[in-house]
Amino acid sequence: MSFKPANNIQDLQLFGEDGGVNPSISDSSTYTFLSAKTMQDTFDGKTDGCYLYSRHTSPSNLNLSRALAAMEGTETATVYASGMGAITSVLLQLCEAEDHIISSRTIYGGTYAFLKNFTPKFNINTSFIDITNTDLVEAAITSNTKLIYCECVSNPLLEIADLKALAKLAKTYNLKLVVDNTFSPLSITPATFGADVVIHSLTKFINGSSDTLGGVVCGTFDFINQLKDVNSGAAMLLGSTMDSMRAASIFKNLKTLHLRMIQHSKNALYLAEKFEAHGLKTIYPGLASHPGHHIYKTQMNTAFGYGGMLTIDVGSFEKANALMELMQHKNIGYLAVSLGFYKTLFSAPGSSTSSEIPISEQEDMGLTNGIIRFSIGLDADIERTYKMIYNCMKELHILK
Ligand SMILES: *Cc1c(COP(=O)(O)O)cnc(C)c1O
Repeated sequence: MSFKPANNIQDLQLFGEDGGVNPSISDSSTYTFLSAKTMQDTFDGKTDGCYLYSRHTSPSNLNLSRALAAMEGTETATVYASGMGAITSVLLQLCEAEDHIISSRTIYGGTYAFLKNFTPKFNINTSFIDITNTDLVEAAITSNTKLIYCECVSNPLLEIADLKALAKLAKTYNLKLVVDNTFSPLSITPATFGADVVIHSLTKFINGSSDTLGGVVCGTFDFINQLKDVNSGAAMLLGSTMDSMRAASIFKNLKTLHLRMIQHSKNALYLAEKFEAHGLKTIYPGLASHPGHHIYKTQMNTAFGYGGMLTIDVGSFEKANALMELMQHKNIGYLAVSLGFYKTLFSAPGSSTSSEIPISEQEDMGLTNGIIRFSIGLDADIERTYKMIYNCMKELHILK
């Protein structure tokens, strides 16, 4: 069993003022200097440990960043107001006009929309590729390519990226490998396989209580300093900075992430096996039938399982909608987007989070109409949950 990323969080020792067991919350947007010269030096980036202004950084944001860097095994990190804040700032920092991006074709809908509709304004263009086929990725590389972008476990189809192979390609062609690890915190540690930049939407599993947005970029001192640079950093200049109060609350939730991930994974595996046994088309990386199962297995920190996300195909859009409405009515979970909550959440990805992707492309990548995406909750009694879902499926003639 590998517990390393969770141990790295557990082993941090950060006290508050007056001996508090939690670090004090920094409740200031600006900071005093004892001398005018130190202020100037801080502007010039020559001082370490001095705070200037909270859009640059704050003590609370640094505490959370430190814990997330420890989890991901990177030199450092910086937190953002949302996952999209983190993603857009990384992409705009790394790319200039004329640059080219290779992205997985199955990614978070917001990221897809940003690359498809927004960055072309700056003449930054993206090829969307089946990232599980390394030959296709290599063939798409041009002299203008700057980076490869993917998710460890992709949204919403749960394709598994072969991080080692992609990192090797990136190295050969002098590209950056940027990885969104939102679906598999603790379970996969992308930097150990050679990812240059690791991003999370903290909104999902890491915070885990569906009460706030948040994001993080984990990477080298050099890259994070570039992002935070007062004169040229995307984090600093685009302004999607996390608030200190939120950093403190997310930090508190982070400390139980390992327990939650173990439970999410256990529950999801239980349901996936049951659904598959009933002949439903079930996608879950923990199933031997999943095309990425073997890669996941070789990349995972085994203690945390295969994660809490699974999809089933119930045959049609109408059946998917009817099932989701009935499951909500029976209080099995909520018909809602997002993930990582204590309750199970379900949505039809085609109509919701992937609605930015044109229908013809959705069909092409296997995003069929009857798909329901589940974020499996922390249910104490998953057998009871299963029986309730089974009854809903029976009632709607989804199961024979
Ligand atoms: C939700 C999500 C994002 C975007 O994060 P926000 O916090 O909503 O901005 C990015 N990537 C993935 C995989 C996500 O699930």
